[in-house]
Amino acid sequence: MAEKRDYYEVLGVQRNASKDEIKDAYRKLALQYHPDRNKSPDAEEKFKEISEAYAVLSDDEKRQQYDMLGHAGFDQRYTREDIFRGADFNSIFRDLGFGFGDLFRHFFGGGFSADFNECVNRGQDLVYELEVTLEEAARGTEKEIEIPRTEKCEVCNGSGASPGTTPRTCPQCNGAGKVQHMRKSSFAMYVQVTPCPTCRGKGTLIDSPCKNCRGTGVVRKRRKITVKIPMGIDEGYQLRLRGEGETAPNGGAAGDLYVLVHIRPNELFARDGDDLLHVLMIGYPQAALGAEVTVPTLEGPATVKIHPGTQLGEVIRLKGKGMPRFRGYGKGDLLVRIGIAVPEKLTPRQRALLEELAKEFSEGVQTKGRKFRF
Ligand SMILES: [Zn+2]
Ligand SMILES: [Zn+2]
Repeated sequence: MAEKRDYYEVLGVQRNASKDEIKDAYRKLALQYHPDRNKSPDAEEKFKEISEAYAVLSDDEKRQQYDMLGHAGFDQRYTREDIFRGADFNSIFRDLGFGFGDLFRHFFGGGFSADFNECVNRGQDLVYELEVTLEEAARGTEKEIEIPRTEKCEVCNGSGASPGTTPRTCPQCNGAGKVQHMRKSSFAMYVQVTPCPTCRGKGTLIDSPCKNCRGTGVVRKRRKITVKIPMGIDEGYQLRLRGEGETAPNGGAAGDLYVLVHIRPNELFARDGDDLLHVLMIGYPQAALGAEVTVPTLEGPATVKIHPGTQLGEVIRLKGKGMPRFRGYGKGDLLVRIGIAVPEKLTPRQRALLEELAKEFSEGVQTKGRKFRF
């Protein structure tokens, strides 16, 4: 099989493209290569390729994994079915007037279209923003969060019918919850499946609704959930907790819970990917003479040698003292950038000594072939 092309290249977008740019790019290409429209022999392959790229890049988690792992690592983690699960082709194709289910069943097998039916009747996804400290992000942690969400009503066990009664089968759809229409686009006939309008996709009708949930089968609850924060997580990463979102009113699959992670700003360290940055202020005499100084690290203070003649802005790299690589091995580095502290007030003696030193350096100071006035 041919080597897969880079997904960004396939859609013709920049690596930092926004979600809207990705959607627009896919919409344009889909219009060009959709097999209903384009009868050239390689259009189908091309359409598969752009659809796969779109499925990955339009999903925050998958995109992040793809950026990190590349094709090889990504394909090990996600099956073909996983890649397409949850991707929103529906709204795009509806806008363009294209068929949906049959086409994808044909391309990608049954798993995908089954998911499409499921998503009609799926609970909402929830997003929870969670702040952790840099130390917690470094070692990984568990956090208990409380989210308000809909859950199955216990009085009617989710049926929505008052206890002792049962919902009856919807006469329009015979309990299927969906109805089929033949639709015609400019190029082909296809079958469109929509939720049944009589029972709104439930497949059943309730004559005597449960009082606890007013016939919806779900009630609002505050639920405590423990979230595992993996080592090395970075600002803006979304953890996906499958099935921890809202329960659908019609007894469909629960949505997902996305935990959006924020890292609280740290006084000592700034972060650059796996590396940490720390600015260490030293005095002029230490910089000129060299010194042993103490530097904070995530694991406690470390001793570092400053060589004689250290310049402002020089960087000392402490290997392996950075953040652990997220879902990988090893650690980044700690970069210590040297700052020179200049005294704001001087005692008479300090002033006298500095003035004498200035006289001594009246010819200027030589650094790396250049001469500066002291
Ligand atoms: Zn109920
Ligand atoms: Zn119905």
